[in-house]
Amino acid sequence: MTSPADPATLAVRAALESDSQHGAVVPPLHLSSNYTFERFGVKRRYDYSRSGNPTRDSLADALSALEGGAGAVVTASGMASLTLLTHLLQPGDLLVAPHDCYGGTYRLFEHLAAKGHFEVCFIDQTDPAALDVAFARDPALILVETPSNPLLRIVDIAALSRLAKKHGTLLAVDNTFLSPVLQQPIGLGADIVLHSTTKYLNGHSDVVGGAVIAASNELAETLAWWANCLGLTGAPFDSYLTLRGIRTLHVRMRQHEESANRIAQVLHQHASVSRVYYPGLADHPGHEIAKIQQRGFGGMVSFDIKGGEAAVRAFVEALRHFSLAESLGGVESLVCHPPSMTHAPVSRKALAEAGIGESLIRLSVGLEDTDDLLNDILLALDAASHAVTLRSVSGSC
Ligand code: PLP
Repeated sequence: MTSPADPATLAVRAALESDSQHGAVVPPLHLSSNYTFERFGVKRRYDYSRSGNPTRDSLADALSALEGGAGAVVTASGMASLTLLTHLLQPGDLLVAPHDCYGGTYRLFEHLAAKGHFEVCFIDQTDPAALDVAFARDPALILVETPSNPLLRIVDIAALSRLAKKHGTLLAVDNTFLSPVLQQPIGLGADIVLHSTTKYLNGHSDVVGGAVIAASNELAETLAWWANCLGLTGAPFDSYLTLRGIRTLHVRMRQHEESANRIAQVLHQHASVSRVYYPGLADHPGHEIAKIQQRGFGGMVSFDIKGGEAAVRAFVEALRHFSLAESLGGVESLVCHPPSMTHAPVSRKALAEAGIGESLIRLSVGLEDTDDLLNDILLALDAASHAVTLRSVSGSC
């Protein structure tokens, strides 16, 4: 008996040789929005691309296999996958979300809750006391981002899953920051995994997409029904590109992590940096859990720079190999100032409660040469400290 293929093999070979018409190695792209009926009253497997599409299904099958799920729904964006998740809730149900989640997720939950779709509470999910208070209300659903965006807080998925099961609560994990290469939440007890496939899964910053992977057939069917009903399913061309992207996911993640780890270590020692958020650092509060539940620490590094806004501005403007842009997980390195960019929809008060300050900088470490990236960061830190010194000198005149 042959042993099951390694996920790297599954990712490379997903849907290869599935073309029975011409024997194409790479699966063809099916753009057609509709399909003929075989004859009156007799449908083929596909009839309309919002409900089902062969290219999108190939990606869904691959993502489900990589996450160890029973089925997956490919959506038009990460936000579409989060919107889909909210349709598992009834009015009056409680949703527990992280207080430092992606700003768009925060905005979606806050505004749907204000319209009465469900109730929401945002808590620090690394705080056992806060979890106890939230679970005393028997929530219907808890969403976890681990590592969280942008502070890379780590939540113990297996422990939370035990708690959730006791309370009849569905556990959903946004796995965007690590991808199934570095973390498989379903194996740790999650019921649902979500992705912004815009990020590492596609990996080339040319698709906006999402996915929801369910641990059970029943949940997968419910989610697929709602995705079709609401019209949230992803486009075939985007699915084609993402399927191509995941073939290199394993090697990309390895390199993202190697460079991010070196950058985090250097930032950690640097006089212009007051705090580094990277789960690979031994002093990160979630380091021990991350070592157990993750297969690596990922390619995202956040840090607080000394010198406030003047330092942030000088740093991002001095960088040459990091683009100042939203998003993450592409081959190219990016720098972002979460309070004014990805987390701008979140109120100043909520940002302060989550610990997201004005000096926070988030790096998505790409696949450029590691030394080039490091040198770039060191020069930009020098520029930042110079700008701060100049400001304090001119301020004292
Ligand atoms: N989840 C996380 C962790 C994210 O960082 C993002 C976007 O940055 C999303 C979800 C939303 O994904 P999208 O931008 O593809 O809608």
